This record gives sequence, structure tokens and C-alpha cells, in this order.
Amino acid sequence: MAGVYIHIPFCRSRCYYCDFYSTTAHSLQNAYLQALAQEIALRRNEWQPGAETIYFGGGTPSRIEAGAIVRLIDLIGGGKAEEITVEVNPGDAGLQYLQTLRQGGVNRLSMGVQSFHDERLKMIGRRHNSAQAIRAVETARKAGFDNLSLDLIYGLPGQTMTEWEEDIDRILALAPEHISTYCLQWEEGTKLFDMWQKGEVEPLDEEVEMAMYDRLTDQLKKAGYEHYEVSNYAKQGFRSKHNSSYWKDIPYVGLGAAAHSYDGVIRRWNPSDLDTYISQMAEASRTGVLKYDFERLGDNERYNEYIMLSLRTKEGAETNKIRNTEVAERYIAEGLLQREKERVRATQKGLHILNRIIEDLLI
Ligand code: SF4
Repeated sequence: MAGVYIHIPFCRSRCYYCDFYSTTAHSLQNAYLQALAQEIALRRNEWQPGAETIYFGGGTPSRIEAGAIVRLIDLIGGGKAEEITVEVNPGDAGLQYLQTLRQGGVNRLSMGVQSFHDERLKMIGRRHNSAQAIRAVETARKAGFDNLSLDLIYGLPGQTMTEWEEDIDRILALAPEHISTYCLQWEEGTKLFDMWQKGEVEPLDEEVEMAMYDRLTDQLKKAGYEHYEVSNYAKQGFRSKHNSSYWKDIPYVGLGAAAHSYDGVIRRWNPSDLDTYISQMAEASRTGVLKYDFERLGDNERYNEYIMLSLRTKEGAETNKIRNTEVAERYIAEGLLQREKERVRATQKGLHILNRIIEDLLI
């Protein structure tokens, strides 16, 4: 069974740091939902006998009605899914909305809290505030969710270690089952990047970012979270099943504009444009033929994919699968990788420069 990802590319406004594919034009919502239904009908054999996990990501899935999400789950045939996650914006998390999701089979929520400091949230263009985030967690509990994932961002301009420690304390006080954290990325084309170019904001020192990452990892480990992937921490039994399948190189199906799919050999993707996606699905629905862009991964590409994904995880890569053994040995000698039984994984120090290590191990 495969995992199914559904992309909901609508956002109320664009956050200043974000380069994901999404739009603030909601007029195409109904047409988009219809196109998704058409794509599900055309591709349902790809996740038979049933989807193991379903993940609604965005964009902001909670910009569409809870009933529409539940209808999509029914169309996918989500009855057998072990885990159904919806990304929810704290500002959208009303009790009735979350109850409808829960009753419709959603058993996990992922909320982009990002920071508990309102001035920092404003600076990056988030619309919610920290009080709303705290309320959203309480509401989710009331609606019956016992599997919550909260996101935090560090490395924000002007952020201090004291502020970051407060964020960590406050997220721990909410006791989510899962925490994802990201270091702010300065992506060209985003508003934040422009602000940097104009001298209005400054990136933090890399050393400070690394110290923030270490502080977070220490604190969360002390609080009983398992650091199971470079950016992800979970209480026992609450690893993200859906995302874990990406890291384990298990096939998945991506539905919606800009969504990618992978069957173990072929990677395919949908157009990153709403109009094109909608008209493509309408045509495919008429003709029964779904055209798509794809690439076939060769042996080297599959190896590279394996290294890129496995080294992000706590389990690491199987030693005998690593081809660039000299490089791996060098990193082991430097204390950046470590060997454990038949596997090699990054040490905490190695996680600071994981991208460089991975790049050096690719062929
Ligand atoms: S960060 Fe999330 S909510 Fe903000 S613009 Fe990007 S996809 Fe939308």
C-alpha cells in the first residue's frame, strides 16, 4: 500500500519566507476540488488495495471547508488508512471545523505555530498570533485529536537564544506528540529575501543557528522526544508514518497541482499551475488518458536518493550500500558520522553540516 499526498495550494496570504507553490486566489477552489476528484478517479489503482497514509499539505489545507476534505478522503477510500493528517493554520482551527475533520477520519493534525513571539510572527508575514496557536491546540484536544504535530522555525532575523528557549519551553508546555523544526531558509524570490537584499533584515550567524538546533535537540530529548529525523522529533509511537515512508524510499502518490509521485523507479509530477492542472484533469477525465511529466531514475540516481533520504534519519544508511566508502570513513574519523552495527548515521555534530556530507557521498 502506498501513501497518498494531496496538495491544497491555497493560502490566505503569502508568508514572507515561503517559496512553496500556493496561491491567494480562492476563486478557483471549486474547480480545483473537481479536478482533484477527477485525478483520484483516474489514478485510484495506484494505491490499491488502499492508502496506508493520507496527508493533506499545502498551501493551507484548512483554507478549504472541512466537509470538502472529508469528501476527498471518502473518494480516496481512506477507510483503511492508518494515519490521516491535515495541515491546519492555527487561525483556522475552530471547534466545529476540527470536529468535522475528526469525525471524517482525520486522526492527526499538523499546525504551523512557527514562533510564540508575535512580533517575530508579524515579521515573517504569518497571520496568526501565539494566543491563537495555544487556543488551536486546546481546541484540537477538545475535538478529540490525540496526535498533534507542531512546527517551529528558528534562525529568524533578530531572534535571540533567550527567545528561542522560550519558544522551546512553550511548545513543551503544550505537550504535542510530534514536533517539526526548520531553520529559516532564505529563498530567492521571497519577500524576506528582498528585505535582506534591501538591508531591512539580517540573517543570523550560522553559529547561532547551530547552537539553537543543539539547544532544541537537547531540550526535546530531555523531555522524552525521539530525534528520529534531522528536523523531526516524536514521542514514542508518534513518528509521522506518512513522512517516514518518504525517508524509507517507499512509493507514494501525490495528487493536485505541483504534487510529485514516486513508484520506486519513476518520479512524476503535476503542473505547478492551477489553470493548467485543472484543464489537464478535465481533458484526462474526458479522454481517459492522463498525460504527465516524469523521469526514470537510473541506478546512480536511486543510490543518490537513498543517501539523501536515509542519512536524514536516526537509522542512517546501510553500510554496505554506501559506495563512496573512503569519504564515509573520513567523516567517521572526524566524528561527523558514526557506525552502529551495519549502519552509518550522522552524529549531532554531523547534522550541522549534513548537506555537505550527503553531497560528498553522492555519485
Ligand atoms: S508558509 Fe504555508 S501558509 Fe505561509 S504562504 Fe507558505 S504554504 Fe502558505
